Amino acid sequence: MAKNYIVEHMEEGMHDWCTLEYEHMVSVCGADHIYFTALTPKTLADMPASLRKAHCHTEDVLTMGDRIPHEKICLLDPSSPYPLAPEDGDTYDFFLFGGILGDDPPRDRTGELRKLGFATRHLGPVQMTTDTAVNVSRRVVEGKTPLDKIQFIDHPEIKLRKKETVTMPFRYIALPPKESTEVAVEGEESTKKSKKAKKLEPLLPPGMLELLKKDNDTALDLF
Ligand code: SAH
Repeated sequence: MAKNYIVEHMEEGMHDWCTLEYEHMVSVCGADHIYFTALTPKTLADMPASLRKAHCHTEDVLTMGDRIPHEKICLLDPSSPYPLAPEDGDTYDFFLFGGILGDDPPRDRTGELRKLGFATRHLGPVQMTTDTAVNVSRRVVEGKTPLDKIQFIDHPEIKLRKKETVTMPFRYIALPPKESTEVAVEGEESTKKSKKAKKLEPLLPPGMLELLKKDNDTALDLF
């Protein structure tokens, strides 16, 4: 049964990064199953049409909670003592996330939602981006995949250009490994089969690589 994913927007305005993450959630979960809450009127006005297809509310989740039974809401909280499990999909219909651009190191801004008293579950010891947390939660509670059966990549190094890389301080879902052939390791007879190294790539929101390149260029222009 399809579940619902609530993102309490806790940032000022609508950054490009946020927009890409939120569009990724909408494309993965379907607009009808995504709720953006605590949107200021300005943020709501800044939201592209692609996001306004989802449920967009200026009310915060607690106020909205008057219409959703609190016992049906589960907060994804890195500090929860309990890991999210497939059977949680039988108990909860709404999964709540902080709409927070991850900080490094985390400042536990999710703590503001923890005060609301909802049940909590964690997704492992490493901070995920919000769209990754939503995607992982959906695979667990809808796809019934146990958390420890999902392949992740932590702090991936993203290649922007020939000699430019950026390391992301988050955990991502790993894309299915693609084989990257390597030339035979130096010193080995060339007759030996070349080793096939499986390179894991992170599942990024569409458009994020381009945004990282643009941000990187802007940063480089400063020097
Ligand atoms: N830097 C923020 C977290 C940003 S991640 C902080 O310090 O709280 C945005 C949201 O994704 C979090 O609010 C949480 O709902 C969810 N999330 C990210 N990683 C998670 C994890 N390992 N376990 C549970 N929820 C997580």
